[in-house]
Amino acid sequence: MVRTVCPYCGVGCGILASVSRTGNIAIKGDPDHPANFGRLCSKGAALDETVDLNDRLLYPEINGKQADWDAVLDKVAGTLKKSIQNYGPQSVAFYVSGQLLTEDYYVANKLMKGFIGTANIDTNSRLCMASAVAGHKRAFGADTVPCNYEDLEQADLILIIGSNTAWCHPVIYQRIVKAKAENPALKIVVIDPRRTATCEHADLHLPLKPGTDVVLFNGLLNHLHQEDTLDRKFLAQHTEGFTAAINAANKSAPSIPHVARVCNLPEPDVAEFFHLFTSIKKTVSLFSQGVNQSSSGTDKVNAIINCHLATGRIGKRGMGPFSITGQPNAMGGREVGGLSNQLAAHMEIEYPEHRDRVQRFWNAPVIADKPGLKAVDLFEAVYRGEIRVLWIMATNPVVSMPDADRVRAALQKCETVIVSDCIRSTDTALHADVLLPALTWGEKDGTVTNSERRISRQRKFLPVVGDARPDWWIITQAARRMGFAEAFPYETPDDVFREHAALSGFENNGERDFDISALADLDNAGYDNLIPVQWPISPSRKINGHLFSDGRFFHTGGKARFVAVEPFHPAHATDAQYPLILNTGRVRDHWHTLTRTGKSPRLSAHTSEPYIEIHPEDAQLFDLDDGTLARVQSRWGSAIARTRFSKHQYRGSLFIPMHWNDQFASSGRIDAVVNPVVDPISGQPELKYTPVRISPVETTWEGFFLTRDDNDIRPFAHCWTRSRGYGYWCYEIAGEKRPEDWFHWARSLMQAEKLQNEWLEYSDATIGRYRAASIRNGRLESCLFIAPDYSRLPDRNWLRDLFKDKTLEKIERACLLAGQPFSNRKNCGPIVCSCFTVGRNTILKTIIEQNINNVEDIGRLLQAGTNCGSCLPELRELIQN
Ligand code: SF4
Repeated sequence: MVRTVCPYCGVGCGILASVSRTGNIAIKGDPDHPANFGRLCSKGAALDETVDLNDRLLYPEINGKQADWDAVLDKVAGTLKKSIQNYGPQSVAFYVSGQLLTEDYYVANKLMKGFIGTANIDTNSRLCMASAVAGHKRAFGADTVPCNYEDLEQADLILIIGSNTAWCHPVIYQRIVKAKAENPALKIVVIDPRRTATCEHADLHLPLKPGTDVVLFNGLLNHLHQEDTLDRKFLAQHTEGFTAAINAANKSAPSIPHVARVCNLPEPDVAEFFHLFTSIKKTVSLFSQGVNQSSSGTDKVNAIINCHLATGRIGKRGMGPFSITGQPNAMGGREVGGLSNQLAAHMEIEYPEHRDRVQRFWNAPVIADKPGLKAVDLFEAVYRGEIRVLWIMATNPVVSMPDADRVRAALQKCETVIVSDCIRSTDTALHADVLLPALTWGEKDGTVTNSERRISRQRKFLPVVGDARPDWWIITQAARRMGFAEAFPYETPDDVFREHAALSGFENNGERDFDISALADLDNAGYDNLIPVQWPISPSRKINGHLFSDGRFFHTGGKARFVAVEPFHPAHATDAQYPLILNTGRVRDHWHTLTRTGKSPRLSAHTSEPYIEIHPEDAQLFDLDDGTLARVQSRWGSAIARTRFSKHQYRGSLFIPMHWNDQFASSGRIDAVVNPVVDPISGQPELKYTPVRISPVETTWEGFFLTRDDNDIRPFAHCWTRSRGYGYWCYEIAGEKRPEDWFHWARSLMQAEKLQNEWLEYSDATIGRYRAASIRNGRLESCLFIAPDYSRLPDRNWLRDLFKDKTLEKIERACLLAGQPFSNRKNCGPIVCSCFTVGRNTILKTIIEQNINNVEDIGRLLQAGTNCGSCLPELRELIQN
């Protein structure tokens, strides 16, 4: 049994992983890890399904041809050197990732900023929490997250702002739910335009108008002032800038009626929120992407922090502004300076003394003397040809960046694209000149830091496959070949970690928040056995309970600063051509761009295709039916997905998940639609506010196709999505024009001539229905169902069982042709509980037949909801309905 951590979100759950003699992987929550105490969400619990070798990048490649490491490293180092010699250091860039371990990140940052001499290294964490970083720095003088998870359990009021915590940070949410069960006095307020699963336990949901957060929190600050509930002593002793902040708040949010009008909220709800905040001292404000991913994200962060500073609710148990990170090592990336406007160890590029200190510590020939390009600008510079060599590590910007088609075009134009990844055919890797096979989760060894500043070891428990190597090793080898061997002597990840820890304490004297110098002397065994530990951890510095508990901040003079913040004005507002606002985000069981979770049948069962959540009254305005294909179009690009009506969607806006890539959907890359506008301070893109229009996609037929062997669907269907089942792939397909002859079309799709399988077929041209099945040695190989539209297609869920390794019974063959299950056969319906594969129909039937009114009874009878708990909000909704 190996103790490691989950590679998905910033909760950073501990995992116990083991591999049996037969190669079976077992995953369970680590009961001793302080982030999760044994809990895992559906994603963490299904990690065993994501570590297969399908589509693994196993060997280095140059221009599509396998190469050995020597050749490929010479090529990487030579190309970087040549470009630097000919065009200067600004002609090269790294785009890295919160998926990297701290050791990988540290080496990449050191090479770029201290040896190449430019700060052109940015990270996909720019898309996730750069606004929180910028807000922290403005308020505290350092990028300090002052809270712990325990604060959530000790609070009496939790604000959840711009976060569907129940789906995106499920274990945090479970801790909040448990805290509420144990302390019914705990109040929860959710501030989010959408009513999400997170609202289930909320005492108050404020579905504010998208983008109006600053007005709401300025209104709160003003109210605190008017009610004279400020902490005057704290204000005077530990803060500055209150007058400007309160003046700005008074101007933009003078009264509750004004706030209610601008935010489009009922006045009593705004009053209730203000009353809760005023009357309950122990308050944690948990915020995430809904706050950060905005062109005014930094101001939103500071608007929240202002209210905490004004009431002295920081640095104490159960209180504080709490930014929760999206990625497993977003925090580690911040610690090593992975953002283009930072130096290592929380030092700043713009401070000459910081540059001097880092340069001396590294004994570096140069040091970047100005901030590098932030993600959106970086790819723009690639597009313009200013960056000639781009090295992308562990991320998929062709799917995740805003204006993603332009990012793809930039890579197509770029002289040399180097990609380090564990997956061979990501949308980004397809444009690489050089491919470097990296280790993946389970094979890697290093550290990550979660949202509460807790450093944990990610440990290997799987053998290395092919020629894959750790990222820190790949960068080290390239650096040595560039002539920097002395400064890159690392042979193991702990070599890197010790240096990183030593730098954090170098000439620190308590002036910088990030200090882990107590770990700088760890030997190999100490590193191997490192238990999860929160920073700061330094021999000379102790914090009593909480960071900032002494009221000392990191600005010169030691005071925190209020920031006067102005209301949001979108760079691109809605208009007659683009009348709706596009909001993007995540679904419960998927992660990032599907390269990992898309492999898991268990995780794919919950949401198998991209969807557009739209309010039914908006849908009516655009002639849309529920469950039909629609095109969403902005000035930047378009995407297609299926409509899903929801009265929980804010009127005038759409929600579309960000996960689907070109391997899983014909037109599902929603970030191709997203505008590339960024926050002027943090550079974080506005991923939640793009003006769009929506229209129905005209199709003459729709269908689905289940097949054991993955087929190339592209020649056969205009629109398609693909998802993994146990023993099969499922394609949802649709076409503009009917094939002349379904028989030949189907036989070609199902490779019937080549395989010479047994063939079953049903066709009724008058009603536009067609069904076919291909059978080999009595076993179902593939089946196809076509109808004039989606609503007339049969249910798919009962077909899952037919792909088990079994001979089809006669009745099952008949069912395939009839397009419906034999009446005795169970049709469990769409999967709700991924852990125990329990479907909607089964749950509904049990609720009705057993007269159930609580989730505990569902768990007792069906097991649903008894493992990770991610489906509990849906179970409660089914009971309620
Ligand atoms: Fe992984 Fe889920 Fe824990 Fe996040 S909450 S770290 S995804 S198990």
